[in-house]
Amino acid sequence: MKKYETPLLDELEKGPWPSFVTEIKKAAAKNEMANDELGQLEKSFRQKRGYWKHGGIVGVLGYGSGIIGRYSSLPEEFPHVAHFHTVRINQPSGWFYKTDALREILDVWDKYGSGLTNMHGSTGDMILLGCRTEVLEDIFAEVSSRGWDLGGSGSAMRTPSACIGPARCEWSNINTLDICHEMTMHFQDQLHRPAYPYKFKIKVAGCAVDCVAAIARADCSIIGTWKGKIEIDQDAVKWYAKGGMDIQAEIVELCPTGCISYTDGTLSIDDDNCSRCMHCIAKMTKALKPTGEKGATILIGSKAPIVVGSMMSWVIVPFMKVEPPYDELKDLLERIIEWWDDNAKPRERIGELIEARGMRDFLEAIGVQPQPQQVFEPRRDPFFFWKEEDLKK
Ligand code: SF4
Repeated sequence: MKKYETPLLDELEKGPWPSFVTEIKKAAAKNEMANDELGQLEKSFRQKRGYWKHGGIVGVLGYGSGIIGRYSSLPEEFPHVAHFHTVRINQPSGWFYKTDALREILDVWDKYGSGLTNMHGSTGDMILLGCRTEVLEDIFAEVSSRGWDLGGSGSAMRTPSACIGPARCEWSNINTLDICHEMTMHFQDQLHRPAYPYKFKIKVAGCAVDCVAAIARADCSIIGTWKGKIEIDQDAVKWYAKGGMDIQAEIVELCPTGCISYTDGTLSIDDDNCSRCMHCIAKMTKALKPTGEKGATILIGSKAPIVVGSMMSWVIVPFMKVEPPYDELKDLLERIIEWWDDNAKPRERIGELIEARGMRDFLEAIGVQPQPQQVFEPRRDPFFFWKEEDLKK
């Protein structure tokens, strides 16, 4: 095996943090693909340019997504990475694996690919990095025979993902794991066969702390919330104060709606004005607890800055009961996707389309009533245009 000198990459191993370079070196010691990847990456750093060619249609029979084609533009110099395709494996809800399950995937990957993985990609899949075209069907046969499936890629429903939810977190208001699994099953065809204008991501978080970063990245975010009051244990509030927490500065002044007060050692919340942001609860977990009916807030339209800049989600349904078989949620998603599919230009995300067409057109098309809370200040959110009849209601 050729030995590459990697002085520039070596710099990335310095410091107290784990380094992807160290991991590539470990794989390179036993795998020619990983070794050539190391060599090509060092050259990229030296020349300040990338040597990956994107694209080419690669995949497995019956699937249009799940494999991303990558080729080296220097195949003579680095022959073992001439093909370096990525395989996306649909992760289990909440990323719960048994060690055996991880081992079986990694054994398949050591057998056919570079041995390099990315746990996990930003959509949520297990990402297996680097293999040749001719082994794709063998990889798919081996993983699918063990009950795994490919994830989404390209202009398709992307693999839905969820926080760990009720499995480990007492603050989860909804069963994130089940919702994620159900949506994955419901949109199987759209996940494997790209037919959309562009990608569509669904992420499910149990509360507004949003450990799965849905509100910043998912086209549709499903966020657990509650309808009742925040129950306050005043003894626990005293305990936090005694432990050094500055309740006025850390809780009261950071409440986004200004609905908390702290007077003479007693905390009070004006629940009608609470936006369920979770700040106070996340800071004082022993003292505060949501109560009452649980459900989800549905938001639309966030994305990372790929074609145009990054966008955050908008609330479209403040509260929806989400219980099996989740028909209301599935119907809503289908109406949303249909409007987007009918109206979007290629590579236009739903948030961009809403911005271009207006929130009113979107809400009308999907049959959802606008909410006054969606307008931060009159005239500041120009996508709302109230009609005469709306004002009379
Ligand atoms: Fe304020 Fe958020 Fe706590 Fe509600 S959840 S009281 S909005 S900090």
